[in-house]
Amino acid sequence: MHAPSIAPNSRDRSRIAILRYLYRNRQATKQQLAHNLSLSSPTVTQHLRELAGLGIVVAAEPQASTGGRKAVPYAFNPRHRIAVGVCAGATETTLIAVDLYGEIVARLDRTLPRRNDAAYYQRVAGIADEFANGVEQSVRDAAAGRSRGTGTSAAGDATGDDQPGSVTGIAICSRNIMPTDVTGGATKATGPDHDADGTGNADGADDTPDAATRPHLAFADATGTPGFPVQAMRQLMHRPITPMRDADAAAAAELWFDHTLRDAACVYLDRRPCGAIIAGGRVHQNRTFRNGMIEHMSLVPGGRPCYCGQRGCMDVYCSPETLPEDYESLPGFFSVLEQGETHHRERMNEWMDRVAQAIVNIRAVIAGDVIVGGEAAQYLDDDDIADLKSRVAKLSPFGGGDNLRLRRGLCMDGQPALGAALSLIGDWLDDHGCR
Ligand SMILES: [Zn+2]
Repeated sequence: MHAPSIAPNSRDRSRIAILRYLYRNRQATKQQLAHNLSLSSPTVTQHLRELAGLGIVVAAEPQASTGGRKAVPYAFNPRHRIAVGVCAGATETTLIAVDLYGEIVARLDRTLPRRNDAAYYQRVAGIADEFANGVEQSVRDAAAGRSRGTGTSAAGDATGDDQPGSVTGIAICSRNIMPTDVTGGATKATGPDHDADGTGNADGADDTPDAATRPHLAFADATGTPGFPVQAMRQLMHRPITPMRDADAAAAAELWFDHTLRDAACVYLDRRPCGAIIAGGRVHQNRTFRNGMIEHMSLVPGGRPCYCGQRGCMDVYCSPETLPEDYESLPGFFSVLEQGETHHRERMNEWMDRVAQAIVNIRAVIAGDVIVGGEAAQYLDDDDIADLKSRVAKLSPFGGGDNLRLRRGLCMDGQPALGAALSLIGDWLDDHGCR
């Protein structure tokens, strides 16, 4: 996926230790590194020289040491690599670039009504490429400016795509990633078990070198209709791309900002609800992109029809669309609810029970935290969240739910684009032993 500057499985533990120390502490002197990592001074010097040559490490501002002599510290260069996340939203495309500390380097919101066709995705590809080029240029210009100021070379002997400031990859979010047939047309999903064994044509975290098993997946809309093949997108772009579901990307942002998360279910109560699974501190997804498709669990066997072809799905009963009365908007509904209107309260109670039941079902498989996000979550105050939690506890087996942590999600503006970029940064950090 990336072209790491250091072999991911490098046996050179001391170099990884130095890099990890610098990443975690942001900067250190040679003496501090040698002392804290129990390494010899020449070893530290040699590795620092190589790391500086690659641009991962840069000389920092000297600090006055206790002896009066200024010790030259070395700093981790957070802009050594940049990752870009792209979210194709309903009315605009959001692009966010982050550095290796997850700091936002650049953001662009371009008005572009979402369509599920090739012309639209080609436009997104063009915007993303242009954005990545611009980010690379500005990061390099800034580094060159600093180098001139300090008289040191930030770029060292690195060239081309290995230059500091290179965009390591672009993660493109889509509401769904669906399998297609070889010609790029849609393969009709037959239900939740479709391709669940992971042996079919699928694309994702693993790059398959064999073209014969090359994945056939497409970016798809909320109803699962494939819009544009992932492979075609790869060919349009000049950098490695990673397809992601919006829900997984939003969950990646939750993970980045909450290090205590180990196992969790993210429940996004949008007009077309969706979900994501976090297991062992990672977003749990595979090549089928089916993990976390909570919206099609059966809540009411034989119930109202769902767009997926089944009946009684969670989507049908937990979409906030079921709340407002005819001609009422969602904000309108919550405003009338607040005034204590009885009929609205009844509708809300019924919806809350359905959502609670869905959460109980999810927790039968992954009994972790629950993070509630999506459009409807914006209208849920702390009392509503507490209410939902107690409904979940009541419906849980053995009256469980004592240790349940249920909270509102970050609900950040641009969260999927940010989470997508952070997910790539996380991969880079893992590959390079920084965390
Ligand atoms: Zn369904």
